[in-house]
Amino acid sequence: MANTVVPYRVGLGYDVHPLVEGQALILGGVAVPCKRGLLGHSDGDVVCHALMDSILGACGLGDIGSLFPPEDQRYRGAASIGLLQEVVGKVRKEGWEIVNVDTMLIIEEPKIAPFVGLMKKRLSQAMEVDEERIGIKVTTNEGLGSIGRREGACCFAVSLLRRKEE
Ligand code: MG
Repeated sequence: MANTVVPYRVGLGYDVHPLVEGQALILGGVAVPCKRGLLGHSDGDVVCHALMDSILGACGLGDIGSLFPPEDQRYRGAASIGLLQEVVGKVRKEGWEIVNVDTMLIIEEPKIAPFVGLMKKRLSQAMEVDEERIGIKVTTNEGLGSIGRREGACCFAVSLLRRKEE
């Protein structure tokens, strides 16, 4: 198995950021109206961050921390949807294509459901993947733990990649 080319690879990603006042809430590249937003070195978009790590993990290209180091000033306040686009371009260049991705966003408030369609559209454009191959599911943490106390939001993602035909 070691030297054979496995055509399909799966990757897992996870991210969490604190919710603070005076910060824009950006999720899946969409600005969601809210008094509080996710604090991060970039725009704190947990959906894009989890997706990037799942894609990079699937093809063994490291993680976003190594690709976009937090100490690098170029990424301060960066739009994560643009970084996602960059990551997808990089894995395509390495010979991979995205079969589908799925995400699970966990946030107590505000209600995200009205924005899911737009998030899918933005992610579809950034990744050049059909909307029907992009899953975005949103739930609350039922008031439990730090996410339940509205201290932050987190997101899980999985990606399936396929080796492009030579
Ligand atoms: Mg992050």
